[in-house]
Amino acid sequence: MPNDRNREPRALRMSRRRMLKGAAAVLGALALPGKDASAAVWEAFLRRNFREMTARDKARVVARLEKEYEAQFGKRVKVAVTPPIEGVLYGYGLDLHRCIGCRRCVYGCVKENNPSRNPQIHWIRVLQMKKEHGVDLEEAAHYYNPSKVPEKEFFYMPVQCQQCERPPCVKVCPVQATWKERDGITVVDYNWCIGCRYCMAACPYGARHFNWKKPGLPAAELVTETHYLGNRPRPVGVVDKCTFCIQRVRNVPGRYPACVEACPVGARKFGNLLDPESEIRYIIANKRVFILKEDLNTQPKFYYFYAT
Ligand code: SF4
Ligand code: SF4
Repeated sequence: MPNDRNREPRALRMSRRRMLKGAAAVLGALALPGKDASAAVWEAFLRRNFREMTARDKARVVARLEKEYEAQFGKRVKVAVTPPIEGVLYGYGLDLHRCIGCRRCVYGCVKENNPSRNPQIHWIRVLQMKKEHGVDLEEAAHYYNPSKVPEKEFFYMPVQCQQCERPPCVKVCPVQATWKERDGITVVDYNWCIGCRYCMAACPYGARHFNWKKPGLPAAELVTETHYLGNRPRPVGVVDKCTFCIQRVRNVPGRYPACVEACPVGARKFGNLLDPESEIRYIIANKRVFILKEDLNTQPKFYYFYAT
């Protein structure tokens, strides 16, 4: 298994700050913290990319964030930096025969991952497709609102980040604010993202979302167990996306993502692709499986299948 930390690109050392300084030189000014700025403001300004941080750096940054979140929400928030579990590569399965299009996964994801409620951001989209046409992304309806699901003439296809093995979003980020971790999860450092949205343009699955406005997240709905690379509250002007609920699957090994738990018909499966005994491996070996937009060679670790 490649070790991302050991093969950090040299380009990473070209820090966002240096790049911004370059841009500022062109513009003639760099917005440095003022002379009365607090230690926390300087610390935030001088911080490094998450992948370059030492354990001490991480502890310092986490302490600052937890303080900021407590001031913002009036609640204690825990920000974990749990690393990938050795010998684990996550894979996801979705049974198209079982999915009934109820969108409980969408709501389960929102409840768990602290996305903006206003404006609304959903990391899962459930597409409605005509049975007679089969899987057809061009023809799919993104909005449907019947009084009852499932509808006789339709089937449903939930789409979220496919956690590509060759993620095009990562390649295009000019500041290395997004990368693939050893356990296969593509993550974003929200404090490093400059909001250029190149990654959104590059993602063939529409899986990335931009926080155009300060995320509207009521304190009462805030989930306080978070991960730095996952569901911690996001600032305005950054991109976010599904992380297979990194805060759940890493902080408590064996725990399922929220959408898996929320699905009332068991259409969602999740597990370790490196474990030959796992359910996901069984599905890949024994069911009719396909991946989305296979021709693009992004190599998703999200497998659609038909159980029967
Ligand atoms: S689905 Fe999109 S956001 Fe997710 S890894 Fe692939 S390209 Fe990146
Ligand atoms: S794995 Fe977690 S973050 Fe991803 S769609 Fe499911 S609930 Fe949302």
